[in-house]
Amino acid sequence: MTLRLVCASANPDKVAEIERLLAGSVELVARPADVPDVDENADTLIGNARLKAEAICAATGCAAVADDTGLFVDALPGELGVHTARYASDRPEHATDPYGANRRKILERLGAVGAHAESERRAHFLTVVMVVWPDGRELVAEGRCDGVIASGERGRRGFGFDPLFVPTDGDGRTFAEMSDDEKNALSHRGRAFVNLVTALR
Ligand code: IMP
Repeated sequence: MTLRLVCASANPDKVAEIERLLAGSVELVARPADVPDVDENADTLIGNARLKAEAICAATGCAAVADDTGLFVDALPGELGVHTARYASDRPEHATDPYGANRRKILERLGAVGAHAESERRAHFLTVVMVVWPDGRELVAEGRCDGVIASGERGRRGFGFDPLFVPTDGDGRTFAEMSDDEKNALSHRGRAFVNLVTALR
């Protein structure tokens, strides 16, 4: 029998990726529109994933899946991580173009700390994915993708930092220059969901 999970994310970019990653293993159910957003105020990725999965599980009475991702940049310790989505929230343009504001800020900050060479621009994405069941059981999986932050944006696909992130295991293209399947095969979220499916089996 196929496992049914309610997806805690309402972000269409992410839901499309997750649907593709779980296809054939899990029936993904859309998050009900009337469930309010959770305040993601935990100080770890696993803490935020748990907050989101527990809230949807409690609201629906069904098993729920949630993920949380951070970008960790070696030259900017403590600056992104669990706060990645809100990285440039100190800038007014973040309200209308959060992804663009975050990308501009990271390029400026890397320039400001003198991280120009590729070897100084190492970074990794980390995704934690969690399933929570109504009886309180939970299952956690992780995925990591190492790479570098490019010196300028390349490509028009994907979302977030995709035009700036060049995965180490790739061929020099950014995630935004890859097809969905190419990105999913290498990405932090792809790896986390593959690990989740293995754990569920
Ligand atoms: P979230 O926890 O999945 O919402 O991720 C937090 C932030 O990390 C997002 O707002 C994006 O800026 C960034 N991010 C997460 N996943 C990706 C990805 O696959 N590509 C590029 N940026 C991402």
